[in-house]
Amino acid sequence: MIYLEQFSYLLASVLFIIALKMLGSAKTARKGMQYAMFAMALAIVITLIISGIVGPIQIIIGMVVGGLIGGVVAKRIEMTSMPQMVALFNGFGGIASTLVAYSEYLRYSGAETMDVRVTVILSLFIGTVTLTGSLIAYAKLQGVMPGRPIVLPLHQLLNLLLVVGVVIFGIMNVMEPSVQMWAILIIATAAIFGITFVIPIGGADMPVVIALLNSYSGLAASATGFVLSNNVLIIAGALVGASGLILTQLMCDAMNRSLFNVLFGAVGTDDSTGDAGTGGGEQKTVTRYTAEDVAMIMDTVQSVIIVPGYGLAVAQAQHVLHEMGELLTAKGIDVKYAIHPVAGRMPGHMNVLLAEANVPYDVLYEMDDINDDFQNTDVALIIGANDVVNPSARTKKDSPLYGMPILNVDYARTVMFVKRSMGAGFAGEANPLFFDDKTMMVFGDAKAVITGLVKALKEE
Ligand code: NDP
Repeated sequence: MIYLEQFSYLLASVLFIIALKMLGSAKTARKGMQYAMFAMALAIVITLIISGIVGPIQIIIGMVVGGLIGGVVAKRIEMTSMPQMVALFNGFGGIASTLVAYSEYLRYSGAETMDVRVTVILSLFIGTVTLTGSLIAYAKLQGVMPGRPIVLPLHQLLNLLLVVGVVIFGIMNVMEPSVQMWAILIIATAAIFGITFVIPIGGADMPVVIALLNSYSGLAASATGFVLSNNVLIIAGALVGASGLILTQLMCDAMNRSLFNVLFGAVGTDDSTGDAGTGGGEQKTVTRYTAEDVAMIMDTVQSVIIVPGYGLAVAQAQHVLHEMGELLTAKGIDVKYAIHPVAGRMPGHMNVLLAEANVPYDVLYEMDDINDDFQNTDVALIIGANDVVNPSARTKKDSPLYGMPILNVDYARTVMFVKRSMGAGFAGEANPLFFDDKTMMVFGDAKAVITGLVKALKEE
């Protein structure tokens, strides 16, 4: 039996690693998710059967109820609300680790070895921080609480005292494992620390925080794996911990921010409804066009690079965008899509949206692979994107975008923006490209404008 258990765990661990690798590309991501789901189901079933904790009927009922809740929530959630959902799921992972570690602590009631005592404390601490931190991240993104940074008097000192408190309670717990109060104090202090850790971070930086909390939930699970001596939990938790950290770093790099600045800078902005302004109070004008004007221009061009952004997801215009791309291709125009790594509101947001609309993978290009093409392109068609094409990122030193690599849309012969207003993007930074002579502004909801464009292209 022990061989079956260890072999299943080994198989599940290998499948997790292969799945993670496959998630690195849009082409293989779906299959990767299936491998991961199978591996997780295998790990759960084998653990529960072999450990004899519950009978098969309870396993099936638990998996069906849990699976149904998770499935319905995931199905109903809007794509733009995905970061909130991930935050909640991270929080559930955190509380699961805390509950398992606490129940093991009660079960041992002082008879555990030193390494188990230490890992129980780590599980309680990291699991609880993940829970309350994730709930705050959820509340900020969902608008349940203000997205702006909330900084208390002597905030960093308070955080330091809370961490010192956990260390002291942890030492007391190791010395007096039978006194339950120390474990409860660790949980309470960690719960407060999770809140004070996340409230000073602005809503704008929440996706980075969620990636970090995701990593914490993995570390908490891994620590719980040591408590339970369960190899697959140790490995799966370590994989989540490591990949969450890598993702956090990639997101910081793509926004040209340090993790330290995100966590302690208290500089995050609220959300994306600021005015683009003109940067210096002087009056500048923009040139407005309609979908029909764009269709007429498309008759004369040979190459178009489409740049999708957050507004595409808000408008849910991905299907009609695909239809437009096909129509342009049928006219003999070379159509490509340029994907910026932080376009949208979560990693891979644009890839997921376009994959949902069956846009072929071979016309999607990452920033570094397409940036040199803009100078030889007739039209850069920007759909609901703003920050990822804002040239201020190159030149304006006091801009929150300064240093962020952008798509070189301004090098194209004509630049077209499809958006509803002169409003700024996520970073709240004015975009001088709106006022450029070669820029055409087509105001309106992305879905309505592209639908109009498709209609006009069909009528020609
Ligand atoms: P932006 O937020 O910069 O701009 C989106 C634009 O879409 C807005 O200016 C808005 O203008 C427009 N818009 C909104 N709704 C619609 C609609 N229905 N139809 C048409 N247009 C619409 O998005 P980008 O994708 O360019 O940049 C992403 C930003 O998010 C970056 O600053 C990035 O750092 C940040 N970020 C990204 C993360 C990620 O993982 N992807 C994580 C954290 C932050 P208007 O209101 O005028 O319509």
